[in-house]
Amino acid sequence: MRPPLSDEQLARTRAAELLSTLSPDRLPVHLGSLARSRGITRVVAIQLDSDGLLVEQDGNLVIYVNSRLPIARRRFTIAHEIGHTYFTKKRPDSVGLAETRFGCQTEFAQNSSSIEALCDIFGVELLMPLPAATKIIRTGFPSIRCIRELCSTFNVSIAAAAWRLAEIAPVDVTIIWCREMAKPTDAKDIKLRLDWGVSPRQDRLYLPRFDAVPHESLISSCYYSRLPAEGFEKLDFGSLRGSRYLVCERFGNRVLCLVLLDASPANPRGQRPGTLFV
Ligand SMILES: [Zn+2]
Repeated sequence: MRPPLSDEQLARTRAAELLSTLSPDRLPVHLGSLARSRGITRVVAIQLDSDGLLVEQDGNLVIYVNSRLPIARRRFTIAHEIGHTYFTKKRPDSVGLAETRFGCQTEFAQNSSSIEALCDIFGVELLMPLPAATKIIRTGFPSIRCIRELCSTFNVSIAAAAWRLAEIAPVDVTIIWCREMAKPTDAKDIKLRLDWGVSPRQDRLYLPRFDAVPHESLISSCYYSRLPAEGFEKLDFGSLRGSRYLVCERFGNRVLCLVLLDASPANPRGQRPGTLFV
């Protein structure tokens, strides 16, 4: 669920204020100093059913993070939990540690609450500071190369970097992820399907999870050949319809696809320039 815009702006402002205590040249962002300045005394990696949580123990704030997550996902979770110091007053104590209902699923989990979405936005803003991220993203047409550069500069996951790119790219970008999976109603009906999608600049995007990707699609071609693919294609996923320029690459068992509304390599700024850099 998308947080109200004023809350979203507040999350971005809080992250920028917190970042101003660090040198802007020190990248990736050193989360330990930022956590300490928010009263967090320890970050503990243990096995959890959730990605992480912020708890109050003996008057101290402690972040627990799932030790099974890769480092980049742990960093995002820690940044998300720092966000909870601003946006959540009631915190569980250590009694609720193992219970999933107290924990957070971070990095834009499906069906997350507006507070969780707010902490994700805070996390993105904290890990990929706007000035440094803008320098990378403005260098050209939205690309997977650009996402990889965000990942290596800021030590974040592909998903978080793709979100940041879609947020501040000079053209409209929707991100979709597809993977081979069954429908919940039929375990044998395994196909390449739409798994997840976001469009940070659009409030009303309807993307039906489990929609099958047509076999002739560039997304299928990328998935089965394991080669990057891009070009124009007519899409029909929920409200994502019509001719779009797609940029696809396979990561593990999923395909990341950047969907560009107006732009293409021949028209890199799009017909409707983004307002961010005006
Ligand atoms: Zn959370």
